[in-house]
Amino acid sequence: MTDVLKTLILGSGPAGYTAAIYAARANLAPLVLAGQQPGGQLTITSDVENYPGFPEGITGPEMMEKFKAQAERFGSTVLFEHADAVELGSRPFRVHTTAGNEYRCEALIISTGASATYLGLPNEQALQGRGVSACATCDGFFFKNKVVYVVGGGDSACEEASFLTKFASEVHMAVRRDVFRASKIMAQRVLDNPKITVHWNTAVTDVLDVSAGKVTGVELTDTTTDAKRTAACDGLFLAIGHKPNTELFRGQLEMDEVGYLITKPGRTATAVPGVFACGDCQDSFYRQAVTAAGTGCAAAIEAERWLEAQH
Ligand code: NDP
Repeated sequence: MTDVLKTLILGSGPAGYTAAIYAARANLAPLVLAGQQPGGQLTITSDVENYPGFPEGITGPEMMEKFKAQAERFGSTVLFEHADAVELGSRPFRVHTTAGNEYRCEALIISTGASATYLGLPNEQALQGRGVSACATCDGFFFKNKVVYVVGGGDSACEEASFLTKFASEVHMAVRRDVFRASKIMAQRVLDNPKITVHWNTAVTDVLDVSAGKVTGVELTDTTTDAKRTAACDGLFLAIGHKPNTELFRGQLEMDEVGYLITKPGRTATAVPGVFACGDCQDSFYRQAVTAAGTGCAAAIEAERWLEAQH
């Protein structure tokens, strides 16, 4: 068993690494468990254009390498392990990982982020990796000169659709309402792109065809009339939002009905003293890299002050 750590950070997105930078600079020698998706969601995005300080934009993976290097420069340790159980009932807190290790810590900073949601259609999981994807950046390349559908009307859907036009011959967007949720600039980029066709009031209600072993089309339902039709395509990209990665804490930390961890108003402290939550696992409202980094900073400062008050 290892010594009791002053600070353990779960997750390695903008929130986790920012917490690590601040905690390391406060001499808390943080250990970061990078989790299942090291670098977090930005590693599966293309260009980040809205993070201040990068006027020309930067790729998501490159940005996260910089975050990691900065955290390590001040003495953070980053391990590529994934926590699969926590014990928060008494201190020191205990964190178990899939690698079979147990870590004990005085303060725990949770920055486990969020993961893509799926429509929940029976065929969706069966055809995952066979035409169904939730990451255009990861899988777009496989759809050269193919026809793809993107589900969703938010910034992610617009970004994915625009990105997919680099490969696909036709990109269709199924938007369940008659408006985008996306920001004006992202929406306009889609509307101006001749390769993208937007289908308003349209839900994808089935993925075809499991018997073919790959995506051959989708069933589309008009959300105003319930009329159904099928459309041929080779790929289906889901971009309908995310779910916080917080199952691990169920029963031990307060969360809302979606699973976002609840912290004190305007703070990162949870109801369990010494446990702090930041980034997309706690923020259901802004969900931006820059706000995640901001709350990561806040969590480290709160953890530092809390630790100081214990001694
Ligand atoms: P959002 O929650 O913003 O949008 C989700 C979209 O999916 C909405 O259009 C929603 O429809 C639709 N949707 C949700 N559930 C279903 C369903 N079951 N069937 C069909 N459609 C569904 O999520 P995003 O991932 O797009 O964005 C998350 C955050 O990240 C936002 O704050 C966004 O601004 C930010 N972001 C910024 C980027 C950038 O600036 N470069 C890039 C990507 C994301 P409805 O509108 O009807 O609810």
